Amino acid sequence: MSSSESPYAWLDPALQTIHRAHWHRSPRAITSPPGPEIELDGQRLINFASNDYLGLANHPVLKQAAWDAIQTWGTGSTGSRLLSGHRPLHDQLETAIANWKQTEAAIVFSSGYLANLGTIMALVGKRDLILGDEYNHASLKRGAQLSGATAIDYDHGNMADLIQKLNQHRSQYRRCLILTDGVFSMDGDLCPLPELVTISTQFESMLLVDDAHGTGVLGATGSGCREHFQLPVGDWIQVGTLSKALGSLGGYVAGNANLIDFLRNRASTWIYTTGLSPADTAAAIAAIDLIQQDSQRRQQLWHNITILNQGLAKLNLRRSPSNSPILWIGVQRPEHALQLSSYLQHHGIFAPAIRPPTVPSSRIRFSVMATHTAAHLDHLLQTLQGCREMLTPA
Ligand code: PMP
Repeated sequence: MSSSESPYAWLDPALQTIHRAHWHRSPRAITSPPGPEIELDGQRLINFASNDYLGLANHPVLKQAAWDAIQTWGTGSTGSRLLSGHRPLHDQLETAIANWKQTEAAIVFSSGYLANLGTIMALVGKRDLILGDEYNHASLKRGAQLSGATAIDYDHGNMADLIQKLNQHRSQYRRCLILTDGVFSMDGDLCPLPELVTISTQFESMLLVDDAHGTGVLGATGSGCREHFQLPVGDWIQVGTLSKALGSLGGYVAGNANLIDFLRNRASTWIYTTGLSPADTAAAIAAIDLIQQDSQRRQQLWHNITILNQGLAKLNLRRSPSNSPILWIGVQRPEHALQLSSYLQHHGIFAPAIRPPTVPSSRIRFSVMATHTAAHLDHLLQTLQGCREMLTPA
């Protein structure tokens, strides 16, 4: 290496490689408040790309709660929770989550990503085994890698494969942790939770379910996957985020009191980071309160999901077997995904192209919101009807 070469010189060729593979991405600014319609690059679009399933991120009650919290507590938490960053609001939020999830306790992290990383790394190490669904979210996969445990994927949703792998490997390890999304973030299907609970017990394994996309959406009170399957509360670990249906920011873990106490002492992504901001904490408390008091929004969301599912079925396309607000339709080739996404944008619709390696087959993904109107859904279906040649038939 010449002495004049910058130690950062490798960044240029590395970026070029990303460009050459067509994997380069950069954020695009939305210049309007969150909602079913947004403004992007100066264009008004119907928004099918948001995780704000219940339309709470711009709700006056949440905004007022965040505002009041700023007035009372200021903008920052000023320290980590175990030092100077703990406020009564945090207790209030953790109690609200535990009550809603019907667990003994809960703990909030700065994001769902950090909740997964910190929890997995605290629970297992070198002598342990992780079995994870192959379609799990990146935060579960990265947590598994960082933990140092032996991490093995099982085929998506395939309980026979999971059992076979447990039979093959479980006995050689100290602890075992099974990891799964509750609702899979790119496919929109649900994990087979009842079977996972049975299997984890049978193989003396811990089970962590990431309910990021189920919280606020699934179950009689919107508390998520467990409620959807009408299972009794078990020992398993329920992780989720405050940033999707709850319209705020942050992540949580809900479970037994000793699990939460252990995480407060061992989860480094909680211990060594600043407590959740007062505004985010208060907005999440208000969201949980609102969701529990008013099931109307959730009913409207499910009504919209049904309408869109029925409309897509009539188009006779390859699409998701979805039981959640995440729907997708298949496209013939990866480049069609980008073409179709721009075609939709040209027709006033914002829906992202998702391509390999993120998913095995190229697709356009639609996130349904409770605040989409019948006209929004109809416009999407009419537009898809007009570009059927790009889509994969069923
Ligand atoms: N888990 C899943 C399944 C997710 O989809 C996401 C967000 N995309 C996360 C975790 C991370 O949550 P957060 O955005 O709060 O970090």
